[in-house]
Amino acid sequence: ENDTFPSSRGPKDKLLHGLLAAGFDEQSCLSRYHSALYWKESPHLPSPYLLEKLRNYEALHKKCGPNTELYKKSVEQLKSGHGTRVTECSYVVWVSFSGLGNRMLSIASAFLYALLTNKVLLIDRGSDMDDLFCEPFPESSWLLPLDFPITKFGTFDIKTPESYGNMLKNKVISYSVDGTSPQSLPAYIYLHLSHDYGDRDKLFFCEDDQKFLQNVPWLLLRSNNYFVPSLFLIPAYEEELRQLFPEADTVFHHLGRYLFHPTNTVWGLITRYFQSYLAKADERVGIQIRVFETDTGPFQYVLDQILACSQKEKVLPDVSGQETVVSTPNVKSKAVLLTSLNNGYFEKVRNMYWEQPTATGEIISVHQPSHEGYQQTEKQMHNMKALAEMYLLSLTDVLVTSAWSTFGYVAQGLGGLQPWILYKPDNQTAPDPPCRRAMSIEPCFHAPPFYDCKAKKGIDTGALVPHVRHCEDMSWGLKLV
Ligand code: GDP
Repeated sequence: ENDTFPSSRGPKDKLLHGLLAAGFDEQSCLSRYHSALYWKESPHLPSPYLLEKLRNYEALHKKCGPNTELYKKSVEQLKSGHGTRVTECSYVVWVSFSGLGNRMLSIASAFLYALLTNKVLLIDRGSDMDDLFCEPFPESSWLLPLDFPITKFGTFDIKTPESYGNMLKNKVISYSVDGTSPQSLPAYIYLHLSHDYGDRDKLFFCEDDQKFLQNVPWLLLRSNNYFVPSLFLIPAYEEELRQLFPEADTVFHHLGRYLFHPTNTVWGLITRYFQSYLAKADERVGIQIRVFETDTGPFQYVLDQILACSQKEKVLPDVSGQETVVSTPNVKSKAVLLTSLNNGYFEKVRNMYWEQPTATGEIISVHQPSHEGYQQTEKQMHNMKALAEMYLLSLTDVLVTSAWSTFGYVAQGLGGLQPWILYKPDNQTAPDPPCRRAMSIEPCFHAPPFYDCKAKKGIDTGALVPHVRHCEDMSWGLKLV
């Protein structure tokens, strides 16, 4: 054990209570078995049924994954252009799209969907997915092979004729009400589940449509959303989900820790930073600042809101305004990890605690790993730093996050932290109250459907069951609680 780790942390169980499969080569992906050293012990245990399901999934993935006979057979079928009923192996292909936080949330959603439907998840590696993440499944790969016959999926959008919504609209497919006897089956269907999807695409979340889609051997899925909450509203999956997740509000916590293991390069960024700046403090505070404005800032109202929230909720101490007090040797130290594209907030918070003593006598150090200026896609080190920072935030004890940000959701979910969420500023003013405690550690689904599949009319999907509610930071969003 490393003595720079506080006693609340430690090598409790490197397999995270059976969540991770044993037997991977440790050196090729250090984060997989070393994460347990850095995270606080989670109060949430994975259910025995989830563990069983994951082991079964791993066997299925190994049987049907890239380079297997069954994979080759399925690809030949796809090339022929004719659909057949699903046999042993059927697939969900996740198409890379959007910022890294969004991507991680949609991969976790696609994986849960694959678990529920006994399909195999393959991911489009995009420009950097394989530089960011290790393989999650033993003795196989989750990366879609580069010679996959459909190459145009990067351009798929709401208008793509092969989308589920458009195929329904154009009557290319139709199915009987019980979904069991499809009149025609395409070789693949594109599931457009992005924020801009249409009403017919949203039928994905209806039970009859699910029965039909179950028969389609290849589903290509593109989403920038955490669509898990709406899966909980499909009656056919209800019982299974209840068994998998007796605590409904731990889906991303467990699946995120199961799936996302930073590569050694990223793990180096994480561990070097943690050891240098965070490990020795008595308490670690994460503050994640994401400003959705066209100007880059920094903005005074954002700084005001961060300080108002942190001080009101006792996340950070007030500054006393007194002359320097001589600090005693046993004072508590707090390390603040601040993440933002801009470094203006960091400068101000750090200066504040330098120029004045705290009212409590605590020593506050403030650290910001990077200030990349603006969101950059397809740049390798940029996304590595983004992943490292989400992960570092997940290693804190107390977290303050920004409204609407999937970057913050990933951090809170991996860490199992119920953050203080800063409300979205309106009209460039800090809202009052500035923040509230999150109801759960789950991410928010920003674009859920509001449709009653049986009655075929609109409905408030945030008022149907106790564990699916509207989000704190987005009134129309849905989250598991
Ligand atoms: P969201 O837009 O906040 O929901 O989060 P995403 O992760 O999906 O997209 C934002 C992207 O902007 C990230 O993936 C990063 O590329 C970048 N970004 C935003 N905030 C930060 C930050 O605090 N640190 C770093 N390194 N990158 C950031």
